[in-house]
Amino acid sequence: MSTLYICHPAALQHETPLGHPERADRIRVIERMLEHERFAGLVREQAPLAEIETIALAHPEAYVRAVEEATPRSGLAQIDADTILSPGTYEAALRGAGGAVQAVEEVMTGKVANAFCAMRPPGHHAERAQAMGFCFFNNAAVAARYAQRRHGAERVAIIDWDVHHGNGTQDIFWSDPSVLYCSTHEMPLYPGTGRASERGEHGTVVNAPLSAGDGGDAFREAFDRAVLPRVDAFRPDLVVISAGFDAHWRDPLANLNLTEADFVWATVKLMDIAERRCGGRVVSLLEGGYDLEGLGRSVAAHVAALQGQPA
Ligand SMILES: [Zn+2]
Repeated sequence: MSTLYICHPAALQHETPLGHPERADRIRVIERMLEHERFAGLVREQAPLAEIETIALAHPEAYVRAVEEATPRSGLAQIDADTILSPGTYEAALRGAGGAVQAVEEVMTGKVANAFCAMRPPGHHAERAQAMGFCFFNNAAVAARYAQRRHGAERVAIIDWDVHHGNGTQDIFWSDPSVLYCSTHEMPLYPGTGRASERGEHGTVVNAPLSAGDGGDAFREAFDRAVLPRVDAFRPDLVVISAGFDAHWRDPLANLNLTEADFVWATVKLMDIAERRCGGRVVSLLEGGYDLEGLGRSVAAHVAALQGQPA
């Protein structure tokens, strides 16, 4: 079976000021990397607009409207110093969530084996009713809830290896034992949450913080010790990856030293658990990653691993 790749030109229309790391070139470099013939077998689709009711599975409907209203007709607007809206932001965010939902739809129905969605703005900092950290709608949270409500998934595991802690995803599922949220991230670093002692109301939040300067060994150790056994024991019906690539050694926003091989390793480990627990169902969603070369190479390696290609 094949791997689904979802993107949409609207992802380029969410504009940020010159010098902002979360920029349209991130998508352009991914698109360019995935033109290579080794990716000829990808099933390529455009991200549809998410229905507001679908995003409302993870956010209050009034919040969705507030993002629409905050989107300027011209120029730029801002929620905070980092979180910027341009005229194309609302559509891009709707398609970001829509792409995640489409990926879940096709993976849960067995139309494809797994999926990667390369959309921006990213999602994992978006809390229930608060945009922050470049994020507006929490695509991973919408994907998990959609799998539960529309496809009968009982348990969904979200694994977040973005270098920043996914405070938004943790916030949304803090009291929900049906979704396991596991994160590796550099600490201390933005947004400041993600201590190992933050476990959620039912112990279904797993934080494995890493220290500045840590590389692949520390990352793999944290995955082996804290993340993988919990994901396996949770017996998920779907594995969602919050795939940020800013823990790459080249990334300018953080100080971990992962390589493409580390992302491939983690991808394969999660695919193994998914194979054993849920027919291989993996939906991977782009989060951060701000060095264009590190991002492009890491995404290519990650998608090739999803396709089952040898590293
Ligand atoms: Zn990040």
